[in-house]
Order: sequence, then structure tokens, then C-alpha cells
Amino acid sequence: MDKDVIKAKLYDYFCKEASVIAYDSDRDSENSRELIDILKIGRVAYDEYPDMNAELRDEPGRQNIYFDSDSINEDDCVVNRMVISNGAIARLRVYPVHGYFWTEEEREFVRGFLLIVSTVKSRIRMKEYIDYAIFHEMDLGYYNPFYLIRMMGMVMKLERMNEYTIIFFNLVNLSGLNSLLGREETNKVMLKFTGTVSDMLEAPECLCRMGGDNFCVLVKQEKTKRILGVLEGIHISVDCGDVSVVKLGAYCGVYNCTGKEKSFNECVDNAQATMLMAKNTKNSQIQFFDRSMIEMMNNTKQIESCFKAAIRGEEFKAFYQPKVNLANFKLVGAEALCRWFRGGKQVMPDQFIPILERSKRICVLDFYILDKVCSDLAKWIAEGKQPVRISSNFSRKHLSNPDFVKEVKEIVDKYGIPHSLIVIEVTETTSEADMIRLHKLVEEFAAEGFEVSVDDFGVGYSSMSMIKDIPFSEIKIDKSFLDNADISNRDMVIMKHIISIASDLEMSTIAEGVETTEHIKLLKKYGCYHGQGYYFDKPLPREEFEKVLCEPDYHEKGLDYV
Ligand code: C2E
Ligand code: MG
Ligand code: MG
Repeated sequence: MDKDVIKAKLYDYFCKEASVIAYDSDRDSENSRELIDILKIGRVAYDEYPDMNAELRDEPGRQNIYFDSDSINEDDCVVNRMVISNGAIARLRVYPVHGYFWTEEEREFVRGFLLIVSTVKSRIRMKEYIDYAIFHEMDLGYYNPFYLIRMMGMVMKLERMNEYTIIFFNLVNLSGLNSLLGREETNKVMLKFTGTVSDMLEAPECLCRMGGDNFCVLVKQEKTKRILGVLEGIHISVDCGDVSVVKLGAYCGVYNCTGKEKSFNECVDNAQATMLMAKNTKNSQIQFFDRSMIEMMNNTKQIESCFKAAIRGEEFKAFYQPKVNLANFKLVGAEALCRWFRGGKQVMPDQFIPILERSKRICVLDFYILDKVCSDLAKWIAEGKQPVRISSNFSRKHLSNPDFVKEVKEIVDKYGIPHSLIVIEVTETTSEADMIRLHKLVEEFAAEGFEVSVDDFGVGYSSMSMIKDIPFSEIKIDKSFLDNADISNRDMVIMKHIISIASDLEMSTIAEGVETTEHIKLLKKYGCYHGQGYYFDKPLPREEFEKVLCEPDYHEKGLDYV
């Protein structure tokens, strides 16, 4: 028999490796000799049983007998059993040729060879299984992140990373699809969607599932646009009751690799962080990597994660910025402003307040600062200092807290501070619902003897309707009015009217950002007699502010009346 034919047969009978062992490998020349001997003197029968019972009943599902029964010596036979990859039991029988009796030595060869075959086969099966398990996820058989790393590793070795893009994507509203179609049908839709992308790829390009509904694509840069075209959304037909077609798309973070990244992770992390920006901001379904954006996000994450510890570690301090009577330059109050001392550095509110405002953390901070204010006031009163009214800033997030007034009262009462010494500073609101809540709150606070001041007044849209309806005690004119102070300016016209309307409604006014004598002149001219700004003092640490409490007259401290 031709060597190649035997080889092919061996491949069929046993496996590729067995034929390699038999013919190709010098390492295994011993086995080769043995096999050839077998083929000269033996005949192989192969039966495949679906399970052990079928084997016991000798009812093979598939049978291959490569000889006619006359050509063998049926009295002699070596049998080997093994479990094959489809889970069936394979039984292999080898007979000597008709009229021949194997010697004991030959029989041992046959047994030995079959043992080798079954061992090699199970080893190959195991290897195939391990290879599969290493590089695929078990749910739907997608490539997994290890495969992505392997492919990226290949590209990196060739120093061609700069030619590739990583797209990290997250499916839009997969849970909605799950409830509409059920899990099984949704899986099919997902496979069709990702399959459309995979069909456009050529190794080492790949699409891998990173977990859940997160996927990563490694693709040549020039193909990115086409892939994004699919990821943005495609219609997929489904077979599910009334629904015949659904649209599926993804939030995508796109990172064009530079080849200078220190690790695979850096590329994938950048793409993932970019995807999260797309998902969280919802400005655009597809975002391209921008380093400053990511830094901001990392900063956000960092601030959020260390906030609790910072509160526990008393890293936040209340600073006090004096409020001054512009007629006599005497201290009339102060605003508590928060500072964060983080790793020995002072961090300003604009670096963390907007981040904390994205969650209820801001409420924790506001109550914390109020607590500090009250404890400082209690200290000053105990030391015989003349206390002044202190305002504390409260985020709009408190509006939804039904116990807001109660919680403020509890803190203030804990220190035995007269309610008239505390001013609640809130910013303007825009929505109708917030306005109604705010109205109620202001009345509740007033009933408890607290004053409420509207911060940054005049920059929102609703300013006028707000003060028309809600009985605030004080209006704080936003700093931006004085920033643009110029008597001919339209802002000045507005400021003038704000002051006059507030006065008609019996609300006091105070201006923020008083920096110059011109500002003071202007404010007085329009009838605003309270100011807060660098002209008098910046926000001061407690110890510095205590000095102001002891010497509350800025004229006596050397400032000329304006
Ligand atoms: P705000 O409540 O409007 O506070 C006034 C801001 O203007 C303060 O900035 C203050 O330092 C600054 N300022 C005062 N006078 C002048 C001036 O003459 N010139 C200039 N250029 N600026 C002046 P700061 O301390 O950086 O606070 C910024 C914002 O952070 C505050 O604006 C407030 O909205 C928020 N904030 C501060 N502390 C807290 C807090 O404990 N809770 C909440 N919710 N927000 C706070
Ligand atoms: Mg304020
Ligand atoms: Mg303000």
C-alpha cells in the first residue's frame, strides 16, 4: 500500500499525531516500525457506541470495518476502548490476517501501539479542549480577553501596534432587549450583531468578549470607520412573536494605538475609559480617546473613592470669608467655605464640589461643614467672642431630602447655637418641582428661625420668578456682575433692578466678589449695603477669622471709607 494512503487511513483511524508518530518522526522510529508491522499483519475494525449501554448491547452507532471477514483470523484480536471528542465510546479492534497467528511479541506490539494511539488521542483532545478553554468564554463561545492579549502580543512583536485601533464597546440597552425577547433570543441577536463585525476581521484582528455585554475589537486603523458604522447600530431580524426586527448598537470607546504604550492593558484601559465617557455622558455614542478627558475621569474616581476616608480623617476644613457692611466697614457675618487638605495640599472647592455633586456625597459634606461651623460658633461663644451670623452652603441635592430641615436643626441644636446665627445658602433652581420644594423648605426654615439666602443670584433663568414667590431673607448677587462692572454695561442695569426689587420685597442684598473701591461705590449707589470679597478678606482659616471677630472694624484696621 502506498505510504500516503496508509497515512491518510491512519489519520482516519486514529489521528494526525498517530500517523506522524508512525511515519514522520525520527524520534519515534521504533513506533513506526511497529505500526508498519501491524499494518502488514493486522486489520482494523472501528465501532462507535453512543454510550456504555449501547456498547454492552453491542449496538454501534457507527461502524467501520476496513477488511472483508475472510481476510482476518477472527480467533485472535486486540481490543482498545476510548472516549472520543463527541463523548461517544470508540472501540478499536485489530485482527491478524487470515491464517496468521501473532507471536506473543507481536501481540504486545499491537497492544502497545493501540495504547499509544489512545493516549495520544486523549492528549490531543485535552490540548484542544485546553486551547479552546484558554481562549474562549464558556457562555457563547466568544474569544476571551486572553485571546485579545495573544493577538496584541503578536502585533506588538512585529512592532506594528501603531497600525491598530482598539474599540471597547458596550451594548446599548441589552437588558431592555432581554425583557422584550427573552434571554435566548437576545443571545442570538447579540451573536448576529457581533458576528457582523467579526466577519469584517482578519487575524490578528479579533473581537473578544470582555465580560457581560462588554466587547473589545482589535482592528487595523483603516478599517475602524467601517466597524464603527456597524457598532453604531444595525437592524437585526428576530423570530419572536410580534417583533420581527430590532436595532442593536453599542457605546464605543476608540483608542488608536501609538505603539509607545507600556502594556496591552494601557491600550485596553484607555479604550474602556473612553467607552465609559460615552456611556455616562451620553453626548455621543462613539467617543475617541482624549487624554485630558480620561485624567478628569480618573480624578473623579479617585475623589469619589477617597471621600469617605477624607471625612473620617477630618481633611475638610471650614474657612470663613467676612461679610462687611459697606456703609461702616463693620463685620456683619461670614460665609463658611470648604477647603480640602489632601496630602498636605489645599484643594479648592471647584476641584471637588462638582464631582461630589454628582452623588449624595455632597450632602454628607454640607452637613459636615455645618457641624464644623456650629462647633466653631460654640467655641467662640464660650470664649466670650461676639459671634456673627455664619452662612453655610447647601447643594440642591438636599431638596429631595424630606428631613433636610430636621437634620440641620439637629446639628445646630447639638451645639446649642441660636438658629438666628445660621444662614442656609442655596443656589437658584430651574425646575418647577424644585421650586415648589424650595418654597416649602424656606418656609419650614423660617418657622424654625433660620434665614435662607439665594446664592449666585441673577445668573439663572428663573431668578425673578423665584424671588417673586419664595420669601428668602437675603439675595447674594453673583460675582459675575461685579466682574463686568462698568456703569454703561447691561449687567449693571440688571444688578440695579435686582437690588431695587429685592429691597421692595423686603429682602436684603449682598454682593459677592467685592474687590475694589469702584465696586463699593457702585453697590452703595444702587442701594446694596453688604459686600463680601477680596477687598476686605479672602476666605480665612478659623484662627485668622477669630482675629477678625476680635477686631471687626475694617476702617479701624486701616481701610478708608469709600
Ligand atoms: P460661592 O458659595 O458662591 O462662594 C463664593 C466664592 O467666591 C468662593 O469661592 C470665594 O472664595 C470666592 N470669592 C469671594 N470673594 C471673591 C473676590 O473678591 N474675588 C474672587 N475672584 N472670588 C471671590 P470658593 O471658596 O472657591 O468656593 C467656590 C464655590 O464652591 C462656592 O461658591 C460654593 O458654591 C462652593 N462651595 C464651597 N464650599 C461649599 C460647601 O461646603 N458646600 C457646598 N455645597 N458648596 C460649597
Ligand atoms: Mg455661597
Ligand atoms: Mg456665590
